[in-house]
Amino acid sequence: MSKDNKVHIYNRLFFKLYLNYSVMLLVTAVLICLIFMKLYGDMTIKNIKEQMEDRANKLSAIASEYIISGKEGFLTDLNLISEVNDWDIWSISNPDAINRMSTSMETGDTYEDFIAIEEYAPYVESINKAFQGPGDYQERDDKVYEQTILIVSKAIRGDGQEVVGAILIVTKVKDQKELIEKSLYMIVMSSVVALGISFVIVIIFATELSLPISRMRTTALELAAGNYKAKTGIKRDDELGDLAKTVDILSEKLLENDVERKKLDQMRLDFFANISHELRTPITVIRAYTETLSDGVVQEEEKKQQYYERMLSECKSMERLVGDLLLLSKMQNPDFKIESEPVNLNQVFEDIIRSAGAIAEKKNIKIAVTKDSPVNMILGDYDRLRQMFMVILDNAIKFSDENKSVHIKIEKSDKIMVSIKDEGVGIDPTDIHNIFEKFYKSNLRQNASGTGLGLAIAKQIAIRHEGSIDVKSAPGEGSEFIFTFPHFREEV
Ligand code: ADP
Repeated sequence: MSKDNKVHIYNRLFFKLYLNYSVMLLVTAVLICLIFMKLYGDMTIKNIKEQMEDRANKLSAIASEYIISGKEGFLTDLNLISEVNDWDIWSISNPDAINRMSTSMETGDTYEDFIAIEEYAPYVESINKAFQGPGDYQERDDKVYEQTILIVSKAIRGDGQEVVGAILIVTKVKDQKELIEKSLYMIVMSSVVALGISFVIVIIFATELSLPISRMRTTALELAAGNYKAKTGIKRDDELGDLAKTVDILSEKLLENDVERKKLDQMRLDFFANISHELRTPITVIRAYTETLSDGVVQEEEKKQQYYERMLSECKSMERLVGDLLLLSKMQNPDFKIESEPVNLNQVFEDIIRSAGAIAEKKNIKIAVTKDSPVNMILGDYDRLRQMFMVILDNAIKFSDENKSVHIKIEKSDKIMVSIKDEGVGIDPTDIHNIFEKFYKSNLRQNASGTGLGLAIAKQIAIRHEGSIDVKSAPGEGSEFIFTFPHFREEV
C-alpha cells in the first residue's frame, strides 16, 4: 500500500469491477450469439428442407397424374413453384424405364446431360436415388453454385408404379445465412451499447462500494498516525456498514486507551514528584542540623540534644515513608502472595485498641466496640489486617476533637462487615473520591505528619483480602469507614 493514499488505476476496485462486469457481459453476448446462430441456422435449414420435400412430393404426385391421364402442361405447374420459391427444379426422365416419360414433361437437361458434367456428380447421385425409389436429401458446399445448397430428389411414377423419372430441387441457403449474419450484427451492436450502459451502472455501483472502503482506509491511516479522534462517518445497514462501525469502535477504544495511558503517565510523574517532595523536607532538615552541629556553632548540650532528637524524628518519618511505599508496591504486585491463615477480627481489634488506647486517652476519646459474635473469622494476614484497621482508627482519632467517641462495629451476615465511625471533622464531598489516592492528604492542622499513603495502603490490603472499603462522611459530623469481607468457614 502506498503511503500517499494512491492506488494504481489497475488495482482500483472500480476498474476491477468494470473489467469483471464487461467480461461477463461479453461472454454472455458471445454465448447468446453462438447459440442463436446454431439454433436459427438449424431451424431455417430444417424448414426449407421440409418445404422442399413437401413440394417435391406434390410435384411427383402431379407428374404421375399427368402421365396417367396423358394431359399436357406439367411444366407450367413446375415453373410456377420454381418461380414462387426461387428454386431450381428439374424433371428428368429415367432412361431405364420401360414406359418412358413424355419429353414434354422434361425440363430440358436429360440424365445423360447431368452425367456428362463432372461438377453435377452430386445431382446425379440424388437423381439415381430417386430412380431407385426413396429419393434423396443433401446439404453441401457446391462447386456450381459456389455456396451451400440443399438438394431434394423424388421419384416420378408412371403406370404400374414404375419410376419413370425424377424431380430434382436445388436451392441456395445464402439468403438465410445473410439473415443470420444480420441478426448476429444486431446482437454484437446491442452488446456494445450494453457495455456502454454498464459502464455508467458500474460507475454508480463501484462508487457506492469503493467510497466507504476508501473512507475506512483513510480513517485507518489516521488512526495509525495517532489521530484517535478519526471516525469513518459511514452509516449503512450492510456488511460495509458493519465494518465501518467496527472501525469506529476501534477508534473509540484507541482513544480511551490513549486517555488512560496519558492519565497513567501523569500519575507516574505525580508519584515521583510526590516522593521527591516528601523526602526533600526531612533531608533538608537533617542536612542543615548536621552542618550546624559539625560547624560547632551550637555549644549548649541541651540544644544539641534537641537537634539530635529532631534529626532522629526526621529519619523515622523517612523510614516510615519508605516502608509505606515498599508495602504499597508489594501489595500492588499481583505476584506478591499475602499470608493466608484464619484470623479472628475480634482479636485484631483487641490488639489495635490496646495500641491506640494511649493516643485516644490523651484526647479523652472513647473507643466503643460492638460485636454480634465472639468469633468473626476471615482468611488473611494478621499483621496486614492489623495495619489496615490501625490506619483507619489512627485517622479517626487524629481527625476527632477531644472528648469524642469512636464506634467500632463488627457484624456477621452473608459477609463480615466492619464499621469504624468517628465524630470528627468529616471529609469534604469534593475530596471524598480522592482520599484513597496515593499521597492525597488534607491541609488540616491535625495532619501535619501525614504522608497520604495510609488509606491507599488500607485499600490495597482490603482488596488483597477479597474485601472492599467504603466511606461515608459529612463535614462537621464525622466519617464512617465500612469494610466487607467474605467469611472463613472451617470445613467440617
Ligand atoms: P494521612 O497519612 O494524611 O492520614 P491517609 O491516606 O490516611 O493519609 O488519609 C488521606 C486523607 O483522608 C487525610 O489527609 C484526610 O484528609 C482524609 N481522612 C482520612 N480519614 C479521615 C477521617 N477519619 N476524618 C476526616 N478525614 C479523614
